[in-house]
Amino acid sequence: MAFVLPPLPYAHDALEPVIDKETMSFHYDKHHQTYVDNLNKAVAAAGVEGQSFDELFAKMSTLPVAVRNNAGGVWNHTFFWDGLAPVGTGGAPSAELAAAIDADLGGMDAFKEAFNAAGLGRFGSGWAWLIVQDGKLKIISTPNQDNSLMDFAEEKGAPLLVADVWEHAYYLKYQNRRAEFLAAFWSIVNWNTVNALFAAAKG
Ligand code: MN
Repeated sequence: MAFVLPPLPYAHDALEPVIDKETMSFHYDKHHQTYVDNLNKAVAAAGVEGQSFDELFAKMSTLPVAVRNNAGGVWNHTFFWDGLAPVGTGGAPSAELAAAIDADLGGMDAFKEAFNAAGLGRFGSGWAWLIVQDGKLKIISTPNQDNSLMDFAEEKGAPLLVADVWEHAYYLKYQNRRAEFLAAFWSIVNWNTVNALFAAAKG
């Protein structure tokens, strides 16, 4: 029961102009696939084949770094793609999510500003996240392929939304302009997905 690359939930050019087709082809077909291939090798080498992401994340601190990097690489990218939608199709924050954004993050503008700052402030490669932690929304960033579900995470919680701020996510179109990529990111957020994850996390 090896890990496989999950299907992309839209065409390679569906997120244009924010994510161009060429970037998507490299990012999904090459980078994401490589994490899948290397995860299968890493779990075999570590003797933990056939386990779920939840099982691996729960004991990640005890596993080789190749499992950590590639399990995160697969899961985070799948979560990233699922949280995006073509411009104009992603809906809007639910009333419940909007109220939580107001209460916990100071409103939508402050939320976007803080999320983008988390992405910009991540030195090197990593991710900016919106998570639910102890019933409240929180913005965090993680290095490399780490996430808030791994047992060693300083900031634990249920992910709702993520932006990939590795250079491979934006360099072909935006070159060094990570801020421009993060500004454009908001027009392809799949709020319908975020709303459902928020409802599930709140129980
Ligand atoms: Mn990536």
